[in-house]
Formats: sequence, structure tokens, C-alpha cells
Amino acid sequence: MRLVGLTGGIGSGKSTVSEQLRDNGAVVIDADAIVRELQRPGEPVFAAMVQRWGRDVVAEDGTLDRAAVAAIVFNDKDELKALESIVHPVLRTEIERRIAEQRSTENVVVLDMALLTEKANPYEVTEIIVVDLAPETAVDRLVRFRGFSEDDAAKRIAAQANREERLAVATHVIDNNGDLTALKQQVDALWQRLN
Ligand code: ADP
Repeated sequence: MRLVGLTGGIGSGKSTVSEQLRDNGAVVIDADAIVRELQRPGEPVFAAMVQRWGRDVVAEDGTLDRAAVAAIVFNDKDELKALESIVHPVLRTEIERRIAEQRSTENVVVLDMALLTEKANPYEVTEIIVVDLAPETAVDRLVRFRGFSEDDAAKRIAAQANREERLAVATHVIDNNGDLTALKQQVDALWQRLN
């Protein structure tokens, strides 16, 4: 196994890069997707969240109301801490399990995780791909393609690790200021080097 971290801010193109690496043959461990699995009704993480915040965080169809959770934790540090202490330990165990499953293979394993630079890196990731771009371009893409308001996009970006913090831990930088063709060329070139 060659274990490589993949990180980048919201709107950076991290999901696009992750998909392209998967198409090339990488095994992707997607932290956001795992969190969504852990938060499905019936899962202990879901139960713990409902215990803390009540039915307010449950949508009519019985699934988690993510927007309601975001509204609670976004403006309150204590509530954010509470959310992290519910989710992070279980997430970490699941990521470790998936890494362990791959350990004795020859696969390139990509750990796709926005928090890689913001928290201590507990997964023995020695290489980190950072998808980098000007924050204004990220705001623009979130508004144009993902339905964010400009204000919301800018706030979400400001709440994350900044560009310099991310670049400081990068071993491979993907420049996503250009178009999708330029992005794909860089990912393909990187894939050649990772294999
Ligand atoms: P992230 O996962 O980092 O939040 P995405 O991969 O979802 O970012 O990219 C944000 C949006 O911008 C998506 O709609 C994506 O298709 C688009 N996008 C990503 N890279 C480019 C690019 N180089 N040119 C144009 N659009 C892009």
C-alpha cells in the first residue's frame, strides 16, 4: 500500500480530483462519505446526535437534517466540539479499519479528507496532495456550480484551514486555477508518479 492524503478547501476541486484518481485505479477512502454512512438512522452516531439536539435535527423522512446541524454548530464552538466528539472517534476507527484492510496490498490508497492539515494527522500519512487555488475562484465555483450564496461560500472557506497552512504540509500540489482539462492533465501526471 502507498497511503496518500488528499486535501483542499471547500470548492477547491478535491472531489473532482478524488474521482479522477479513483478512475485511474486508486482506492479512495472518503471521510465525508464515511461520516454520511455513520449518520444514517439506526447508527450509533445518529442516535447520539439526536440525543444531544433532539428531533430538531431529524428531517421529516427520518434522516439527519444536515442543514439544521450546520446551523447549530456553525455559530457555536461548544456545539461544534460536541459534534466532533460524537463523530471523530468513530470516524477515526472506521478509517483505520479501511487502511488496515489495504495495508498488505500494492494499491495506491487515497485518504480524502478536508481536515488533514487542521488536526494532527493520526493516520501515518507521509504524502499529502493539496488541491490549491485562489479563494476567490473557489467562491465563484461554489456560487456557480453548487448553489451557494456568495456570502455563505466565503464564510465556509474562511472557517477552514487557510491556503498557506495547507500548502505547508503539501508533498504534491495540484493547481486548480485553470480549466478542467488542465486539472485532469495534472492528476494523470501525478498518478504516473504515484504508481
Ligand atoms: P470540493 O470537493 O473541493 O468542494 P468540487 O470538486 O466539488 O470541490 O468542485 C467544486 C465545483 O467546481 C464542482 O461543481 C466542480 O465540477 C467544479 N470544478 C472543479 N474544478 C474545476 C475547474 N478547474 N474548472 C471549472 N470547474 C471546476
